[in-house]
Amino acid sequence: MSRLHVVRDPSVDDPVANLPGVSDKTEAKLSRLGIATIRDLLLFFPRRYEDFSTITPIAFVRPGVKTTVRGRIYDIGAHQTKYKKMALTEAVLGDDSGTLRVVWFNQPWLVKSLQKGDEIFVAGEADLNGGLVMKNPDHEKVSLRPQNVARLVPIYRETEGLTSKWLRPKIQRVLPMADQLDEFLPAELLTRRSLMGRAEAVRQVHYPASAVRLDRAKERLAFEEMFVLQVAAQMAKRARKARSAPVVPFDEPTARGFVKALPFKLTNAQRVAAWQILQDLACPEPMNRLLEGDVGSGKTVVAAMAMHHAAHAGFQSVLLAPTEILARQHADVVEGLLRPFGVTVALLLGSTPAAQREPMREALGSGGIAIAIGTHALLEEGIRFQRLGLCVVDEQHRFGVQQRLALRGKSERPPHFLTMTATPIPRTLGLTLYGDLDISVIDELPVGRQPVETRLVKPEERDEAYGFVRGQIAAGRQVFVICPIIQESDKLGVRSATAELEKLRAEVFPDLAERIALIHGRLKAAQREAVMARVQRGEVAILVATSVVEVGIDVPNATVMLIEGAERFGLAQLHQFRGRVGRGAHAAFCLLFTDLEDPENLQRLQAVITHRSGFELAEIDLRLRGMGELYGERQHGFDLKVADLFDLQLVREAQDEAQRVLDADPTLAHDPVLRRHLTSYRRVFALD
Ligand code: ADP
Ligand code: MG
Repeated sequence: MSRLHVVRDPSVDDPVANLPGVSDKTEAKLSRLGIATIRDLLLFFPRRYEDFSTITPIAFVRPGVKTTVRGRIYDIGAHQTKYKKMALTEAVLGDDSGTLRVVWFNQPWLVKSLQKGDEIFVAGEADLNGGLVMKNPDHEKVSLRPQNVARLVPIYRETEGLTSKWLRPKIQRVLPMADQLDEFLPAELLTRRSLMGRAEAVRQVHYPASAVRLDRAKERLAFEEMFVLQVAAQMAKRARKARSAPVVPFDEPTARGFVKALPFKLTNAQRVAAWQILQDLACPEPMNRLLEGDVGSGKTVVAAMAMHHAAHAGFQSVLLAPTEILARQHADVVEGLLRPFGVTVALLLGSTPAAQREPMREALGSGGIAIAIGTHALLEEGIRFQRLGLCVVDEQHRFGVQQRLALRGKSERPPHFLTMTATPIPRTLGLTLYGDLDISVIDELPVGRQPVETRLVKPEERDEAYGFVRGQIAAGRQVFVICPIIQESDKLGVRSATAELEKLRAEVFPDLAERIALIHGRLKAAQREAVMARVQRGEVAILVATSVVEVGIDVPNATVMLIEGAERFGLAQLHQFRGRVGRGAHAAFCLLFTDLEDPENLQRLQAVITHRSGFELAEIDLRLRGMGELYGERQHGFDLKVADLFDLQLVREAQDEAQRVLDADPTLAHDPVLRRHLTSYRRVFALD
């Protein structure tokens, strides 16, 4: 047999398992940190640094202060302690200024690796113990590259059994391979902004030569992150604008007619938003607008006004809702608003029987239906539109880019897009993550809305709170109880909600057992509808629901929103639940039940009590818990590692540079390296 070896240089794309000292077990641990290849390892940046960068002359070492010293070993020896039989290694270090005693416990091997005459760094704290003694310091021979001491030492995010100390030499070993990482920032930009090169920045961020170099490295890496994000967003925006959508001309009498027929006066914010949308519809560039507004701010009416306009101009609209309950509710509202104008509205759900679906499909294809409202069922293969003009999506995060592309193919021209959301998006996020969106904000509630009194309920206050709930029910009001998902296996929260229902019926309100109902995502559409009908008729006093089946339900008689395990929810989400009550004439309450009594949790929840604005709560949550918690990391497919999302100046500058690059080369045809780096954003923006 010949020994055939393919000899090649190691590549950054090689698996980490190829590195010496990485066992199967460590490989699994690394993968928990998201590290599979050497590239991943290089791009696994430290979370922070310990500063051992200044070397102190021995004469200046003070007790109790973390210090790094460089000295020669004058003497070293090992012995056992008399009483506890501990191995003790003692050394005397000296430099030009003086001498220092150093002691290591239980590291007898040190006498073999360190010898008299060696020059070493030690880093640690000295104690006064019959003279200054440094105990168990980190150490490093001067002849070697200083790795663990004598500089800014990187501290990494750690996982069980995988420490920074373990990671450091592994990363240091592959640092020379950073040269293989592509430089994807244009050369001209690098020079003009005097940014550090990518390979150098990666090396410096792991092993900074100085605090100044570290800052430059971070500056470069933050810029690169924000820049790529902006290029992706701008490209998506340009690609969209290059297509041509149906033109829905603005027609003043139509707009006036709609507003006049409403049973209430639009708020100012609603009027402005509607105006912006109608302007967009009148342009051939496809609209991509986000309509943001707190729960109950009246987004649906604004959307209905746009759909009415489209219908008047002879175009069809669709309204996509995340759940059947919400789709039904939207259909009721929109039909109620548009029936007087003779606009046909159809409801299409997953549960719609085939016998009804077929004629509906035909009517959509022939233009016989002006407005189709429904769930994912509307995205199915066989459904086509004759002249689709506008697509409204309620709560976009449930619909991905895939679904949007599916809709685009259902009509000759790409429709205008309007997304409604109650999840507020802080301003900087609007420019980054949503860089391809125009935003309208309804920041005003219709007059006469009750502020919802919010309270934290600790375990010992539970009975009292139930007493309060009982009083509300006795006064004829209704109550929502929201249950969190506790076990991972209980994906829809069905078990959690069912257990809550049983507890309330058996232990808390046995006398009301008949009037306590349950709603969750596993129920058949007909069952859910039956439950909701009982709620609307007031037969149900307490409705237990999972957070998955969001209570996107309008029940003016409901006055209490009780949330179990409140700590498990995001603040903006709690705020949305709260917005489900306080819609009628009676005072409304939100009770946040929590068993976690640590101050941090209580303080976080306290924010829901002190803040009434969903925007502020979202921003607080974003700072406290990061983006993943607020918007669902997986949905967006990225997380900023270095760049600060709140750094408005960075966002702006990255945006300007992205514009400049795309103005010169709109498709990045001449910059395949940068193009390749956009791939990770394909799921975020509809990049073609
Ligand atoms: P959102 O979807 O923003 O949570 P909706 O559109 O469902 O809010 O509106 C909530 C309720 O407020 C609905 O019953 C709606 O009819 C009502 N509403 C909307 N706009 C106004 C307004 N300007 N004045 C009074 N009530 C309004
Ligand atoms: Mg709504």
